[in-house]
Amino acid sequence: MNSRWSDGDAQGKSDLDLLVYASRLIGAETTLVVWGGGNTSIKQDERDHRGRPTRVLRVKGSGSDLKSIQKKDFPGVRMDDVLALLDRQDMGDQEMVDYLAHALQEPASPRPSIETLLHGFLPASAVIHTHADAVVSLTNNDRSRDVLREVYGDEVIALSYRRPGFLISREVATVFAAHPSARAILLEKHGTICWGASVKDAYEATIELISRAEEAIAHRAKGRTRFGGAAVVSPAAEARRRVALAVAPHVRGLVGKSRRQVLFFDDAPPVLEFAASREADALCRIGPATPDHTIFTKRLPCFAPVTDPSDPEAVRAGVTAAVERFVTDYTAYFEGHNTEGAKLTDPFPRVIVVGGLGLFAAGKDRRTAGIVDDIYHHTISVLGAATSFGGYVSLSAREAFDVEYWPLELYKLSLAPPEKELARRIALVTGGASGIGRAAAQRLAAEGAHVLQQIPFRMQELDGHGAGQRASAEGGAVHAWVDATCNPLGGEDGAKWQTARQRLGNGDYVREHAVVLVSKVASGAAEAALNLVEHEQRAALFGKARGEF
Ligand SMILES: [Zn+2]
Repeated sequence: MNSRWSDGDAQGKSDLDLLVYASRLIGAETTLVVWGGGNTSIKQDERDHRGRPTRVLRVKGSGSDLKSIQKKDFPGVRMDDVLALLDRQDMGDQEMVDYLAHALQEPASPRPSIETLLHGFLPASAVIHTHADAVVSLTNNDRSRDVLREVYGDEVIALSYRRPGFLISREVATVFAAHPSARAILLEKHGTICWGASVKDAYEATIELISRAEEAIAHRAKGRTRFGGAAVVSPAAEARRRVALAVAPHVRGLVGKSRRQVLFFDDAPPVLEFAASREADALCRIGPATPDHTIFTKRLPCFAPVTDPSDPEAVRAGVTAAVERFVTDYTAYFEGHNTEGAKLTDPFPRVIVVGGLGLFAAGKDRRTAGIVDDIYHHTISVLGAATSFGGYVSLSAREAFDVEYWPLELYKLSLAPPEKELARRIALVTGGASGIGRAAAQRLAAEGAHVLQQIPFRMQELDGHGAGQRASAEGGAVHAWVDATCNPLGGEDGAKWQTARQRLGNGDYVREHAVVLVSKVASGAAEAALNLVEHEQRAALFGKARGEF
């Protein structure tokens, strides 16, 4: 991993600006942190509300995302209050949250990270904590202590898994005090802690630590087949996509029984390699790469073995049986560990790995489904690397539950704006280029629906990629443009659809198309709508057509 630090860019910045700069560099590297994971801090001299000089910890606020973090997302916590806690033996989570609220420099600032004390108890001026794929690959296997010794000698300290909170922070303080020459602390099945006298030092220490892990992984991967090789033959890309489209409505129905979900289908090469492999089934029963993934993906994915991935009927049957099993197992997991009166929102999977086909990610909207998908990409990478060192290990069911239903993790989700009236719904609007159609599409998007606008090709060419981006920005929901005469389900029309997607610009945008394509087909509307379109050019077709969702 290369350092992205530029002394030119860093020049003239205050320490807090440097922290923002480094945090964004860390956040930009998705193999270090994804979607709200990880946190960073500095300690600096400030003045308190009475103008007295005060040492202050500036630490990431809970729920912020490092890649887009700003200065205001770093609440200040007074260090004398933090260090006073070193006298305690234990502290409850809520007590810790309440205590830290009293120690804030600005009372209205965001809640400081749940890992605040871990930063505060280390004496270094700058501290960076990541969930690096490469390092959790070294720790999430049953030979981890040997592996860490081989890679880092005695330069790092490894700590057994413990949920974030007071006790792990205390433990970090204690082991650091006993080994002050250590260069990093590794939290097994969780991530890294590096530090430095400056933000740059802490950043460079993180990059060096991860680079060494990556080298060890690359060395180990030489000549090795991941996941035990293929167990089933995957159909060619076009056939896979056709099967995925054919089964998507069924899958969406299966996982959306309590609350509607939007799906994202993914058959990128690493996903396909995993989904078709001999070891996928067993690896899908072990657990997440790092604890905070569970709030998006749940503890386990649902693996659906399929006899023939080119046959939609076989895939439908395989997924149905697998989801039923998942629901039974998940309900038992929930009931077996729920000692604190948590509520089961739904027992359905967020990740469905379909043997030989790819995976479906489910979420309340396209963005969330995309997050789930992203996280599972990283999980696959960790699974591949960790199993090259030994048997894959993860959190126990108890440990995973304690994070998945931990109020302090769930708090991050509660920061999201409330769902709009048409959230989780998918609308298809024909004649969407102008007039009533365009107005309807904008209104639906504004109310939270995912909208597929059908407009003629010639207008796409006039309007280009910018139109889609503008439409998305207007409504805050996903828009996609489809040629009014195009049937994306296959044949010549399928080829036209592909061309339309390619014309529409960059990879992200193509992915948006894929999502809407899958999920709108899942709504059951698309086929009907696409067939009807010639007869009802000006009609707006929603959900099951004719205004009904
Ligand atoms: Zn963490």
